[in-house]
Amino acid sequence: MAEEIIHGRLYVVPTPIGNLDDITLRALNVLKGVDIIAAEDTRTTKILLDHYGIEKPLLSFYSHNEQVRVPQIIQRLKNGDSVAIVSDAGTPGISDPAYSIIAASIENEITIVPLPGPTAFVPALIASGFSTHEFVFEGFLPHKKGRRTKLERLKGEERTIILYESVHRIEKTLRELMEYLGDRDVMVARELTKKFEELIRGKISTILASFDSLIIKGEFVIVISGKAATVNEEE
Ligand code: SAM
Repeated sequence: MAEEIIHGRLYVVPTPIGNLDDITLRALNVLKGVDIIAAEDTRTTKILLDHYGIEKPLLSFYSHNEQVRVPQIIQRLKNGDSVAIVSDAGTPGISDPAYSIIAASIENEITIVPLPGPTAFVPALIASGFSTHEFVFEGFLPHKKGRRTKLERLKGEERTIILYESVHRIEKTLRELMEYLGDRDVMVARELTKKFEELIRGKISTILASFDSLIIKGEFVIVISGKAATVNEEE
């Protein structure tokens, strides 16, 4: 039997990171059942909802309107509306907006219902073959301020490191990782769950050397073996 949607609750709903089959039955049920969906980009979410045949009022919720939206959404929750929050892809709150509405909900004693579901870093980590016993998810490296400090800090990290990266910075980031962390074993996961999914494994230098021949497009997760784990062939 489909789960009953409870009034006044905030449902955090992960959506596919590429393959539209990667949505849970529970996520569909919640999206169908809530009163309103707060979405990072209402156009993107509208396309997704159309695909599943769901029609719902949408409210935009992104980093630049959070301050205005949070009190509005809290008010609706207090008035008894059930609200789902979704991002453009994957799990809201994972390198995507959601933190502020979740923090405000806790403050206002609103029940949060977090659904498990798609996110890019878990399949990348699992497929890397690096230790999953302990790992650190860093999201995007800072673009400017704090970037060097972060890279310096990652130098000594013994756990498996996971980074998100866009097509614009993938090469620069790999070059800097090599400069700061050395020629580690890495796996670059490109376009996970999509038609051109690719898992590229090797030393950073080897991957960089083959960059010209690879088609560099899409979205990337970089998984880096921890300090102790990479065997330096020259030693
Ligand atoms: N909320 C998302 C999640 O749960 O994974 C992350 C959103 S973040 C704005 C977007 C970044 O996630 C991309 O730049 C890329 O690093 C990673 N990403 C998202 N989808 C991906 C995919 N299909 N393949 C590889 N990386 C992906």
